[in-house]
Amino acid sequence: MKFRKFHMFFRKNLMRRESTQPIMGQQNLGSLESVRQRYQTIKHPTMKLVLTVQDQILTSLREFLRKKGFIEILAPIIGPATDPGIRGAKQVTIQYYDTPFKVMSSMILYKQMMISSFDKVFALSPNIRLEPLESAKTGRHLVEFRQIDLEMVHATYNEAMHLAEALLLSVVREVMENCYEELEGLGRDLRELNPPFPRLTHKEAVERLRSKGHVVSYVEEIPWDAEVALSSMHQCAFFIYDYPLVSRGFYDREDPNRPGILRDFDMLYPEGFGEAISGGEREHTYTGVLKRMKLTGIDPAEYEWYLQMLKEGVPHSVGFGIGVERLTRWICGLKTIWEAVPFPKVPGIVSP
Ligand code: AMP
Ligand code: MG
Repeated sequence: MKFRKFHMFFRKNLMRRESTQPIMGQQNLGSLESVRQRYQTIKHPTMKLVLTVQDQILTSLREFLRKKGFIEILAPIIGPATDPGIRGAKQVTIQYYDTPFKVMSSMILYKQMMISSFDKVFALSPNIRLEPLESAKTGRHLVEFRQIDLEMVHATYNEAMHLAEALLLSVVREVMENCYEELEGLGRDLRELNPPFPRLTHKEAVERLRSKGHVVSYVEEIPWDAEVALSSMHQCAFFIYDYPLVSRGFYDREDPNRPGILRDFDMLYPEGFGEAISGGEREHTYTGVLKRMKLTGIDPAEYEWYLQMLKEGVPHSVGFGIGVERLTRWICGLKTIWEAVPFPKVPGIVSP
């Protein structure tokens, strides 16, 4: 009832606003032209609705995590090494005086440093990944994106999945309460989520996809098109967990009682929107990480400070990252991710 009244008030005011606003033309915000000419499309009323929802999403994410005892830290942007587990994307290297430095593809290594000091940390972390050119067609890959990236000590990946579920529920509820008019304006019929979210092991996910004719491997990450297919089979967010050993970065922890299986997970959005979150327990021992680096063909010399840190000892931890633009895209029901960010960088496209 409260919503209804508010809605009526909004309709009256929106209509008044609309009548005094210049017509922006029929720009297709999902087109690549809209990315190249952002200085024009940023003025589109739809962009304003989306960015208002995004502001609420960021507020809700932060408030939720603070209530759970997390403290916000500033994310690094450059450093001697960064996350190698980025699924076919390339890292960016800059010249830092006499030393080559990486632009952060994710701050995973730094989160492990921080939890020696605080039990629960998070950051709004900017990431750069030169994604393959063909990823421009997925509508969910950007070269520059942001994650709310968090880490907590002495917890399990089951606890992390519970946290991810509660976090998404809280964000959706608050967006529905506070951005009712924006969702209405976007034509998005967002429904309350229904926990507990379904959970599939990686093996079960692969079996389900194979039964529908998809070519999917038991020892690799699920390819983009199959991810969309699996996501389309669901009406609620869901988890895939227990990924195979070599499919992920050296930092995801192998289950000591089930060799070859990682204690990690992804959360996927429903309705074909695909991956939302990746997370897992960390391999935090020096010898364990060295072994995994060898297995995945990574040169330990590139991770000098990180390995030295592990040698001195860091606590066991678990963490995950949720992409802010993908979350905005799903909540707003947008066709492409570049409608969910003010200044998008789409693979291969030169834009402001
Ligand atoms: P990852 O470390 O690759 O699992 O990334 C963590 C999260 O960041 C993902 O679950 C997505 O929500 C988001 N993400 C990863 N890559 C991209 C990208 N290229 N564009 C936009 N969001 C991304
Ligand atoms: Mg991932």
